[in-house]
Amino acid sequence: MNNNISQLNNKIIKCRSCDRLVVFRKKIITNKRKQYIKEKYWGKPITGFGDISGKILFVGLAPAAHGGTRTGRVFTGDRSSDFLYKCLFKAGISNQINSDHVNDGLELKNAYITAALKCVPPEDKPMKIELEKCSKFFNNEIELLKNLKVIVCLGKIAFDACKTFYKKKINLVGNIQFGHGKVYNLTNGIKLVGCYHPSPRNVNTGRINEIKMIRLFQKIKKF
Ligand code: SF4
Repeated sequence: MNNNISQLNNKIIKCRSCDRLVVFRKKIITNKRKQYIKEKYWGKPITGFGDISGKILFVGLAPAAHGGTRTGRVFTGDRSSDFLYKCLFKAGISNQINSDHVNDGLELKNAYITAALKCVPPEDKPMKIELEKCSKFFNNEIELLKNLKVIVCLGKIAFDACKTFYKKKINLVGNIQFGHGKVYNLTNGIKLVGCYHPSPRNVNTGRINEIKMIRLFQKIKKF
């Protein structure tokens, strides 16, 4: 356990524990998307971003191949982040509507955002062992959020990663299932909230839309 976020982040970006993901990272930086061909891809694990003293934590699955893995910041430079930040801005949680690159001036208000898995997995499908290995970093981030009140899990994998953490931490029991808008009051005072992932698939199929997402974000701000 690191007691300092910079120390933790330094360890995260140097990590090479998952062979399959290290190979995949390398593949992405050597097979760049045509529109980014002149860019230098980050190509390493990504850390969390935002206000470590914040009360709200957003948790995604993993960095996107040509989003976070390219730009070096979680939920940055892809269509999921375009949709997510449009909603966060409209709910008053970010200072701007766009998350394009690390020097774009983006700030989160009273919130931190991270991913359960720090490296992009092939087809966005992590293996159980990879999530288990990476949980040491994810769990450490949660421990460092000393003012945490609400965790918004963007998708089932993020929700399950939080569930696993709290099963060990506070002996979480009962029928805790992911669902958009479902709120669980944990015994330590933290609210665990399910939210559909802001992926293009969820947006294009109408599973999630801007109104639904903003409404949920406004609700969690009030908690
Ligand atoms: S997924 Fe996590 S544990 Fe695996 S290589 Fe990346 S940072 Fe390390």
